[in-house]
Amino acid sequence: MAVAYFHFYAELNDFLPRNKRRMKITHNFAERASIKDMIESLGVPHPEVDYIKVNDIYVDFSYIVQDGDIIHIYPISVTDITTPTVSVRPQSLSVIRFVLDIHLGKLATSLRLLGFDTLYRNDYADEELAEISHTQARILLTRDKGLLMRSLVHHGYYVRSTNPQQQILEVLRRFDLFNLVSPFQRCLRCNGLLESIAKEQIIDQLPETVQLQNNEFHRCQECQQIYWKGTHYERLQQFIDGVLEQKE
Ligand SMILES: [Zn+2]
Repeated sequence: MAVAYFHFYAELNDFLPRNKRRMKITHNFAERASIKDMIESLGVPHPEVDYIKVNDIYVDFSYIVQDGDIIHIYPISVTDITTPTVSVRPQSLSVIRFVLDIHLGKLATSLRLLGFDTLYRNDYADEELAEISHTQARILLTRDKGLLMRSLVHHGYYVRSTNPQQQILEVLRRFDLFNLVSPFQRCLRCNGLLESIAKEQIIDQLPETVQLQNNEFHRCQECQQIYWKGTHYERLQQFIDGVLEQKE
């Protein structure tokens, strides 16, 4: 039996059993395995890892673990004193877009409200989510660690909080998005972009009170849903203000 010693840093410990957090993990192994597979067998999904040092040398995911290796694994939040010569972090995305798993419906609505391109359906299968994330270069947000471990997933993040109010702050902080917030640009139902539309064009679709009280309308270019500053508007604006106040 060979042995390797693992040190996981910062939030990577969230994935370890309580009795193994923030300490050296002694891992016995009999079969030849890549460091990626071994990290995941200990419970940590690969998209959460930024860089890996083995016996003080930076390695990528393909490194084959050797007997006696001392392995340090760092998440994105930890900056090393020296710049890593090898990073396993995927190339940064020029446009931040998301795809969310079934458990994150409220977070999807919040992200759309804040203007972020966010795919969500409550019937996406796991394969589909991984495929969409891969082919469309979308960050997969999930509460399912197994889903993040799929090899197709490069850009992914495990949402820690189960509270939707906290989740939106967690995602904005993790991806540094506060300055990109652009509210009321997207359809909350389908993610389509909104366009302003003249009242005359849609007047027959509006309830009478809405016709009388509003002059400004937007329509989703995809599903044709019409939006106006109705009773929900103030609550949504308060939600947005509350989120932006948390910017650090
Ligand atoms: Zn729509």
